[in-house]
Amino acid sequence: MIYLDNAATTKVYDCAVKAACAAMSVNFYNPNTTYKSGVLVRECIENARNQIAASIGAHASEIVFTSCATESNNWVFSCGIKNKKGNVIISAGEHSSVYESAMQLKSRGVDVRTAPITRDGIVDESALLNLIDENTALVSLIHVSNETGAVNPIKRLTKLIKSKSPRALVHSDGVQGLVKTGEPISDLGVDYYSASAHKLGAPKGIGLLYIRQGLNVAPLLYGGGQERGLRSGTQNTPYISAFAAAVTEFKHLANIGEITRLRNELCVFFVANGCKIIGQSQNSGYILCVSIPDVKAEILQNIAHDNGVIIGKGAACSGSKRGNRVLSAMGLNAKEIESCVRISLAADTSREEAMEAAKIIIQAANQIRSL
Ligand code: PLP
Repeated sequence: MIYLDNAATTKVYDCAVKAACAAMSVNFYNPNTTYKSGVLVRECIENARNQIAASIGAHASEIVFTSCATESNNWVFSCGIKNKKGNVIISAGEHSSVYESAMQLKSRGVDVRTAPITRDGIVDESALLNLIDENTALVSLIHVSNETGAVNPIKRLTKLIKSKSPRALVHSDGVQGLVKTGEPISDLGVDYYSASAHKLGAPKGIGLLYIRQGLNVAPLLYGGGQERGLRSGTQNTPYISAFAAAVTEFKHLANIGEITRLRNELCVFFVANGCKIIGQSQNSGYILCVSIPDVKAEILQNIAHDNGVIIGKGAACSGSKRGNRVLSAMGLNAKEIESCVRISLAADTSREEAMEAAKIIIQAANQIRSL
């Protein structure tokens, strides 16, 4: 099987499996106790936090482990706004975990504003800036679109937002961007940044929220005071260890130049075969959204699967919903959206397997059209 649905989830690296197994079998003790075996487990957590912080360009004290990015995103919207006053701005390109969190605030009377996105899938900068005023409390912008791979210039946008409204906090959903764009979080200037480990070769069920040093955020969970009192609950030591091992391995394997060249080669191949690339400029090398004319993505996905290739259609997390809010916001019509597949690469996807998969996808499309 050639697996090209890595934006949905990734295969767990062997080193991450090993790290998780060691934390379950050998270092299984309570990390919050005072006896030596437990203290050593606590040290494993802090070593993992340091390792992750160094890999993503953050300080260890800025990282709080969560169960997933959905949790991190929800946390920012439920507790991350000072005094819960002022307006909140999101873009039309956000993942459902940000969008639905914002809609929750809206249903409670908060002034939630949505900045449009361009045909290329990035936020419309001037429209965004027009929405910001002195009462803006939070602006949340996705770093890399999970639908198209479009990359928002978060560093520049954060500067512009803060110069227009210094009290506004900036959050970025960095699930598809962490490590993959090569930008250290500290360079982005954001206050909050959400990430998820299962997009980088670690298991599902572990994520983080970056909270800029000096920012006071209300706890998400109250209880035993773990994670500096911000997220109580006994830490998921096996998955935290796996997260650290996976990020290090991912950074070792990743080559931004190579992945970008491979994505470009795939684009050329698909265009030569009559397909349309959705969102062409400023894209992550890891994600490619292709509209394949006269073919329904769901059928294509299944036939490709039967022929040994796994690809996505729309967002994995919104797979049960009809239509596609983000692609619609980019101006695609229903027919175009229906025909969109998402091809997403891993750090170790080879050129041979990607190009072989592309051929199989086109053959599958031709097979469908001939039925
Ligand atoms: N944000 C983005 C951009 C995503 O792509 C995803 C998952 O695909 C999430 C958030 C949710 O991440 P998790 O599965 O860790 O909750």
